[in-house]
Amino acid sequence: MTDVVVVGAGHNGLVAACYLAGAGFDVTVVERDTVIGGAVSTVERWPGVRVDRGSSIHVMVRHTDLVEDLRLAEFGLEYDDVEPWAVLPHPDGGLRFSADIDETCTSIEAACGPADAAAYRSFVADWGPATKAFLEAGSRPPSAANLGRAAWSLGRRYPGSRADMIRTYMRPAEAVIADRFTDPRLRAMIGWWAAQSGPPPHALGTAPIAGTTAMFHEAKAGRPRGGSGRLSEALAARLTAAGGTIRTGDGAASIRAARDGCEVTTISGEVLCCRAVVSACHVVETARLVGDSEAAAAVRIGHGIGMAVRFLTDALPSYSVPISGAHTSMQMLVHSPEQLRAAYGDFLRGEPAADPPMIVMTPTATDPTLAPSGQHTVTVWAQWHPRQLRDGDWDGRRDEVADGIVTAVDRWAPGFGQTVIDRFVQTPLDLERELGLLGGNIMHVETELDAMFSLRPLPGWAGYRAPYPGVYLCGASTHPGGGVWGASGRNAAAVVIRDLTRRRRR
Ligand SMILES: Cc1cc2nc3c(=O)[nH]c(=O)nc-3n(C[C@H](O)[C@H](O)[C@H](O)COP(=O)(O)OP(=O)(O)OC[C@H]3O[C@@H](n4cnc5c(N)ncnc54)[C@H](O)[C@@H]3O)c2cc1C
Repeated sequence: MTDVVVVGAGHNGLVAACYLAGAGFDVTVVERDTVIGGAVSTVERWPGVRVDRGSSIHVMVRHTDLVEDLRLAEFGLEYDDVEPWAVLPHPDGGLRFSADIDETCTSIEAACGPADAAAYRSFVADWGPATKAFLEAGSRPPSAANLGRAAWSLGRRYPGSRADMIRTYMRPAEAVIADRFTDPRLRAMIGWWAAQSGPPPHALGTAPIAGTTAMFHEAKAGRPRGGSGRLSEALAARLTAAGGTIRTGDGAASIRAARDGCEVTTISGEVLCCRAVVSACHVVETARLVGDSEAAAAVRIGHGIGMAVRFLTDALPSYSVPISGAHTSMQMLVHSPEQLRAAYGDFLRGEPAADPPMIVMTPTATDPTLAPSGQHTVTVWAQWHPRQLRDGDWDGRRDEVADGIVTAVDRWAPGFGQTVIDRFVQTPLDLERELGLLGGNIMHVETELDAMFSLRPLPGWAGYRAPYPGVYLCGASTHPGGGVWGASGRNAAAVVIRDLTRRRRR
């Protein structure tokens, strides 16, 4: 008998486990994979070459005190700042986005003129409070009181009327971007950032995601030295130091929930008895584990966002338009707002984007621990790519689509294709197979209004409680959603600690 079994050693499950163990509970984490960290993990893909399996850039977690609170530096976590945070090596003139707003505006003014530079400054100033409120709301359970508090603090700082505020937040990113900026490069760049959680910038309710551009001017984005997975490895070390246990390669096969305690049966047939279960895997998997096919069917998973290609190369991409610090940053390869719409149009037709917008990341440029000298890793993230294709399937089309991505990068950085030694392709199907990201959705569940806050993942399953006694949830499927953040793991742990402590007192 243990106090808590955590199902899934993704970073959120590990965060929850760390806080539970820190509060004095016996915690066992069961992970299906042989690697810990889920989509925050780094593996040796080629001899001596460490490559991220999912995320690379940590943004939201750096807006929390989680790393300091859990003293993860003592367990080997060290961040390199991503500065500049983004560049756009556009053939009509490049843009460089630094954490320093003045430097960013100087770059925008040189390329797009003073009006767009001033507009960017006021965009960041206007959306800063909303982004802060969004991040604060993410760091608490999505109760009516907590959401009310976030809305109140936002309303207090909003210069217009309440109705105007609500309208602004409900608008499509594309509309608020077009209202502010004239230059298509700047419009494309912010629209492409806004598309990172999946929905296209023309979708209702995406304006605040465009507004999260302001985050980069508040705290620097980071990349753990040694790869994204160093965060999960540090969490695991922190957990075991606090007495917790992690078992890999033997996931949960079922969860039996009861008022007097729960049972987790593992794939190998072992039965773990516990007072509570925190299911940190995809909510559809959790529903399957408790035998709730109705809930599993009700979740709107979506059907893919994008795909990644991890290249092993003998050189960094050399852009036609060089920008200082480009290889440290997210290299945003997008020409125009129309390209974003066209790529989404292809996706709706069941086709991989013919001309995908891309983000290129080159971690070996700044982190020599990742590959032997003379070798580089280049990650290309491209959108949108549907999980189900109209013609054929991903096993049959993987190489053709990856070849198209090489050609697309070549247009920005001529000769890139000739530097490639090998590649590892992650289509939506591969993300599902390797990381359990159903539908290839890197955020688990669609990040849209019907699955946000107290509706995430489903009515009745929100607030980190499944509708089964003793069964709790965390992870990207729950509030505040996906990305490297750890907030849901921490929030869920607080809920479980409160419930178990109350029961202990009774
Ligand atoms: C290619 C890619 C690039 C990305 N880039 C970024 C980025 O740069 N920045 C960013 O912020 N975000 C990025 N993301 C998104 C982010 O990585 C994820 O949203 C986030 O890591 C989800 O974390 P999680 O802990 O909630 O869930 P997961 O990482 O999905 O972890 C769930 C865990 O549960 C395990 N599991 C599943 N079923 C069972 C079972 N039955 N028993 C036991 N264990 C089980 C899984 O194996 C997994 O380890 C990216 C994702 C991908 C895939």
